[in-house]
Order: sequence, then C-alpha cells, then structure tokens
Amino acid sequence: MQTQKENRSALASGHPLPKCFAEKLLVIRRGRGARLQDRSGRWYLDFTGGIAVNALGYGRADLARIAARQMRRLTHISNLYTTEPLLELGAKMLASGGFAAVQFLSSGSEANETALKYARLYALRRRGEGCHRLLSFTGAFHGRTLGALSMTPSAKYQDPFRPLLPGTETAPYNDVAALERLLDSSFAGVIVEVVQGEGGLSCMSPEFARALNRLCQAHDVILIADEVQTGLGRTGALFASRALGLEPDLITLAKPLAGGLPLAATLIPAKVNELIHVGEHGTTFGGGPVTTAVASRVWDLVSSPGFLAAVVQKGDYLRGKLEGLGARFPFLGEVRGRGLLLGLEVKLESLPTRAAASVDPMADPMADLLAACQEQGLLILRAGVNVLRIAPPLVITKKEIDEGLARLTRAIERYTSDGGSK
Ligand code: PMP
Repeated sequence: MQTQKENRSALASGHPLPKCFAEKLLVIRRGRGARLQDRSGRWYLDFTGGIAVNALGYGRADLARIAARQMRRLTHISNLYTTEPLLELGAKMLASGGFAAVQFLSSGSEANETALKYARLYALRRRGEGCHRLLSFTGAFHGRTLGALSMTPSAKYQDPFRPLLPGTETAPYNDVAALERLLDSSFAGVIVEVVQGEGGLSCMSPEFARALNRLCQAHDVILIADEVQTGLGRTGALFASRALGLEPDLITLAKPLAGGLPLAATLIPAKVNELIHVGEHGTTFGGGPVTTAVASRVWDLVSSPGFLAAVVQKGDYLRGKLEGLGARFPFLGEVRGRGLLLGLEVKLESLPTRAAASVDPMADPMADLLAACQEQGLLILRAGVNVLRIAPPLVITKKEIDEGLARLTRAIERYTSDGGSK
C-alpha cells in the first residue's frame, strides 16, 4: 500500500511488480515531445525514448486520434479474419522491397522467436533433418522468451533459466575468421544486430556484413537481422542492416512500430513463405486493427527521406558533442553507435569512485552516474556494463540536445566533485 506521502513523491516504493524491477521506480505521469513529467510535477528531458520506442515523441494528438477512432470502430478480431488497417500497413511494409509477407506479433522477442522458428522450418523442409542449429553473437540481445533468450549470450539473463534451447551457439561478434570456422550447413539460421543496442552499442563492421552474406548464402542458412531497436529510423535509415550492406533474409521490427503501442513484425521472403502451411504459427494480439492503424501513420513519417536525413544530422551533431565531452573528462571513452542510438563509454577503472568501489563490492558507479543525471533533470540509459546509452525521441530538436548535454555535463561535474559518493 502506498502512503499519502509516497503518493506525492516522484518515486513509487512498495509497488506491485516482482523483484526483477528496481525497488523504487520513478512514476511518470505525462509527456510532451522529448520531455516527461513525474507525478510530483517535475519535468525531465528524455534521452531514453522509452528505450528507443517513442520515436515520434510524447503526447501525439495525431496518433491518439487514429487509435481512438479505430477503437470505436473495431478493437480486436481474431486471426481468422483480417482488417483494413492491417492490409494497408502490410502493403506499405512490403513496398519497401525484398519480402513476400509480413507476420505481425506483439513484442520484439516474439518477432525474433518467429524468425528463428521460420529459419528452422525452412532448413527442415529444404534440407532435411540435422540442420537445426542457430547462431548468435557475443554482446547480442534478442529477447527474454526462452528461444530468444537462448540467443542472448549473457550470464545474467540466461543462468537462472537453464537449460536453454538445444542447438544454439555463440560466436564472437565481428570476427570473420571465427565465423568462417564455425558456420556450415548444420545451421538453420544466424541472428544478428547491426548495432548492439543492449550490448554496449558495438557496430557491425562492413567486412563482417559481407562475410555473413557470403557464408549464409553458401550454406543456405537463413540470415536474420534483429532490427527491433535499430529499425525504422533510429540509425537514420529505414533498415540499418541494408544501409550497411547486410542482406538479411528476414528482418524483425518492434519498438517504434506503433508509436508506443505493442506491435512487432517479422518480414519474410518468398523462399520461406512458400514453405509455411496454414495454422503453423500465429498469435492472438499481433496485428490488431488499433496497433496497425497507428503504425501506418508511424511508417509514413519515419520512412520519409526528410525525417531520416534529420536523424542523421542530429545524430552527427550529438556524436560530435559527446566526443567533446569525452575529451574533457578522462574517465569517458569511446563514442559508439549510429544515428540517434549512441553510447558513451565510461572507463570504470578511471572513475573517481574506484577507491570507494574497491571498499564496497556492491557499489555500482554507473547507477550513481545515472542517478546524478536524473537529479539534473535528464533521463538516460545504460547499455552493457559501462556504457551510457542515448536513444531520445527522434523528433528531439538540436536545442533540446544541447540542453540535455548541459545537464549531462553538470551531472558529471557534480558526480566527480562528490567523488561519486552521492
Ligand atoms: N531485440 C533487440 C535488439 C532489443 O533491443 C530488444 C528489447 N530491448 C528485444 C529484441 C526484445 O524486445 P521485447 O522486449 O519487445 O521482447
């Protein structure tokens, strides 16, 4: 139960969520553009974008109108029927070229599960039994359902839930020689991110993209680009994979697809689609008329060349400023990522909190840094162990980027002058 005092505080403790959530959570009440307000009335600049979901920003009257109109007309109908919003969105997505079908799901994990299942279905029906192995890479994040989790090689996420899916393997990211040694026709599929959103913002090298294209084609292995985080404009391209020269058979999309409503998609080529039979895969909520109606509008906006060019421009601007910050503070390192999905490395061993951390093994200097940002009115993410991740709404202005960076600088200054002991 929340006390009256807690109700006025920005933080909720004693919330009903399980222990996989932080003990105290900031209660957000509303948003406008790239800003969020907590329940105590305080406003923040948002460098998190709902973890790369809220591409078009908060408080969108256009999306709200579309959703409300569609809810009055028809909210849900089963997979036994279809609706006009789904047909319209599907046609737009397929017009991007290279795919014969799109399957709608409700989450990124589910889109990846779908892609992995279709890779296996294709291998089994094309090449027979014994070609079912699935490959992912160090630093990857593909989701938390058991199949997607099996492709997410992180001890923290995997260890409590073992044993995982059999036949899943991990290879080092961006290591062409290791890929050449491992990949053969015993594999059904390879799943990969072009920018590792959760795994520290490492980017795929063009050589690695070329090797993936070549080896997957040579062994008839399905290449899956997980564009749950990178897709739909986040990196300044509709598909980050294609912009790099990767030629995926399947692409998975989710986060920004329906403007914050739960919708995901797996884009499927003809060679896979023609092997799938009625009823072999499906889901209850995927591709409902409300989410697809909103997504149609999102798709129009994020796929327009002007919108994508603005993301590239703002991304370059932010990157330059972050590099400037890196030059100023010795414990800040490399700037990574693409477009408006950027990471700033924090060299933990050089942090002023290092001495404190060696005394207290439970100290989490990154958490302290994020808290210092929040105190300055800036919400920001982390990726991996030691990377600050910035994924603001794509509609953020240059002025707001400057304001966010000023807040980040103040937070770092306060953090370092306190020796991190906030
Ligand atoms: N793939 C990638 C690249 C992601 O970033 C995420 C979510 N962070 C997922 C898959 C899983 O998506 P969801 O949480 O919607 O299941």
